Amino acid sequence: MTSQRTRQRLIERLFAKGIRDPRVMECFMKVPRHIFVDEALGHKAYEDIAVPIGYGQTLSQPYIVARMSELVLAAPHHERILEIGTGSGFQTSVLAHLVDEIYSVERIKPLQLKARERLRLQKLYNVRLKLDDGFLGWPDAGPFDVIIGTAAPDSPPQSLLDQLVPDGGQLILPVGAAEQYLTVVERQGDEFTERRIEPVHFVPMLAGIQTGETDTLRL
Ligand code: SAH
Repeated sequence: MTSQRTRQRLIERLFAKGIRDPRVMECFMKVPRHIFVDEALGHKAYEDIAVPIGYGQTLSQPYIVARMSELVLAAPHHERILEIGTGSGFQTSVLAHLVDEIYSVERIKPLQLKARERLRLQKLYNVRLKLDDGFLGWPDAGPFDVIIGTAAPDSPPQSLLDQLVPDGGQLILPVGAAEQYLTVVERQGDEFTERRIEPVHFVPMLAGIQTGETDTLRL
């Protein structure tokens, strides 16, 4: 299940789908995907499919995590990253290997707490977690080189665009409702240029915290 061979097979599948960045491939060898899913679903952890994580949410398909990670590394700057939608913490873990600092916001407290355990287990101490409405971003910690969203709003939220560094900051996220596209918006001063990457299926970005008060957690 957790063997190197199983992980190698997943990497071969990602390569077949067009993933090429060796730094991203290396992360898929390192990050133990089975610890992000319930034990009963452990056998699905290294298949290239989305897996339920409770509360109506899903751990994204490995291909899309890899694709978004490639886009982060291709951005003009990628030292300080904000993620909206910590979820299981899998995408967070991959990015923690690739960038200096990652800030991640989640609106469902139990998911945030489980993600923190998994990040601690891997000793990924360059991550800060916040329980909040991700539509607001994390203004105190910004501006960010890249903001990545793992849930889909109907359009790129202005508050997130405002928290990008002005010289080439990028917002990378799924946009749309019935029809969604992975989208990259690049900031140059007050100019924002949008490009569509490919069709995707993400859960919607929902406003507000599900329960409880906003909080910030160090690992
Ligand atoms: N990257 C995650 C994917 C989780 S699914 C993973 O690898 O597991 C998307 C996540 O976005 C869910 O956990 C959902 O609760 C969260 N989410 C949706 N809207 C949000 C918002 N406004 N603020 C913060 N998190 C949000």
